[in-house]
Amino acid sequence: MPTPARPVGRSQTPDGMWFRCNSCGEILYRKTLESNFFICARCGYHFRITPDKYIQICSTMVGSRSWMPISPRPTRLASPNTQSN
Ligand SMILES: [Zn+2]
Repeated sequence: MPTPARPVGRSQTPDGMWFRCNSCGEILYRKTLESNFFICARCGYHFRITPDKYIQICSTMVGSRSWMPISPRPTRLASPNTQSN
């Protein structure tokens, strides 16, 4: 018995290469979605993204050398007793 044709799905493409829009159901290619900052080109739905991806997009928009990660321990708070008066 021949196998019936199936729509493109996870079984035929590497995981994470295709996204389905939660709003309109459009199937979007990952690279296309990334170039559009994870916004559906059909309906304007904003996909949820990780903080790392958000920073990557922001750095792409403003220039990769224009920001620095914030230190978890600012030096001005490291030793509060050194500053008095
Ligand atoms: Zn959509």
